[in-house]
Amino acid sequence: MSRNETLLARHQAAFMPTYAPQPVALVRGEGARVWDADGNAYLDLIGGIAVSSLGHNHPALVAAVTAQVATIAHTSNLFLNEPEVLLAERLRGLLGGEGRVFLTNSGTEANEAAYKMAVKYGKTTGRSYIVAAENGFHGRSTGALSLTGKASIRDPFGPFPHDVRFVPYGDADALKQAVTDDCAAVFLEPTLGEGGVVPPPDGYLRAAREICGATGALFVMDEIQSAIGRTGHWFAHQSENVTPDVLTLAKGLGGGLPIGACVGFGPAGTIFTKGDHGSTFGGNPVSCAAALAVLDTIEKEGLLAHVARAAEHLSTGLAAVEHPLFAGVRGRGLWLAAVLTEPVAARVETAARQAGFLVNAVQPDAVRVAPPLVTTLDELATFVDAFPAILSKAATPPNPKDVP
Ligand code: PLP
Repeated sequence: MSRNETLLARHQAAFMPTYAPQPVALVRGEGARVWDADGNAYLDLIGGIAVSSLGHNHPALVAAVTAQVATIAHTSNLFLNEPEVLLAERLRGLLGGEGRVFLTNSGTEANEAAYKMAVKYGKTTGRSYIVAAENGFHGRSTGALSLTGKASIRDPFGPFPHDVRFVPYGDADALKQAVTDDCAAVFLEPTLGEGGVVPPPDGYLRAAREICGATGALFVMDEIQSAIGRTGHWFAHQSENVTPDVLTLAKGLGGGLPIGACVGFGPAGTIFTKGDHGSTFGGNPVSCAAALAVLDTIEKEGLLAHVARAAEHLSTGLAAVEHPLFAGVRGRGLWLAAVLTEPVAARVETAARQAGFLVNAVQPDAVRVAPPLVTTLDELATFVDAFPAILSKAATPPNPKDVP
């Protein structure tokens, strides 16, 4: 057995069977390149699910985390630490100088905080339900899962304590119908991420903002996947000129260290009062130092402009590919889905891996690409060049013996 296969077998024996990892144990990385336990090299076009914003082993991230862990690794919220204060101030700076921040360890927890805020807001204003999108994804904890619009993962754990109503994503009329003066909050992603990297029609987020403004429902924007440069903007909502009442972010913020944030604007910033919420690790100085290094590096290396340019090259390059299995490309920035004409995304994922590219079968007919923001144009071009052959290989079912 290869080292990859051995680790897979040990994983399967030791873990709850919640995941189906690809048979690749990643052991090290450098920029957008990673190597597995058997020495195979890959271009990492998924970046730990849109997390490794600076790629792997970025010197700024390594230095910040190393220095912080060697100084003080944890304080809890019984005490202050400077990195968390700097980070909250920095996030406010990127958000027009506004907002009150609650730091978490993951995207789910950021949404759990937003969900509790919505529930409290509803209770204090007599609003009884929340609206979210079909095929939306907000996490797996009970609150976040209750907002997640995919019945197959939500239903086994329901019923949930609060009334959440689902509307088709992108349909402003349906949203208007669903949101009344009884609605406490609307939770939306700026583009469906786990739903298959599906952007809404132009004007949808603005319409959602207006509907919430008119009814007094909180507009909660889940930017867990889209924030911190992924779309070529610090936050996806900034390109739409829309300001939410509550914003959640995570993934790319820590560049690989676990951190998330829930930000409340205006009155939403003080829905939580003392004792309403908490987290032992939230605001952990090592994760905050990592996030500060990510934000500094995005600025210093001009990565927002780079993402816009790289995204243009990647999406134009992919869109020009002609293949019977390929229907086209959609998404925003370095956050794209190659849409297939048949539900063979898992086979495309395997064929890509065998050709040296890590991608993700995010939906049966959609392959997600969300590479590190530092991925070069040349690196992306190697994928565009290889893509037709990957599709052709995926067109025929693989012999299981050939799948490493
Ligand atoms: N919200 C969105 C939009 C996501 O894409 C995800 C994860 O994919 C989450 C929430 C959950 O985040 P986490 O896995 O960090 O808990």
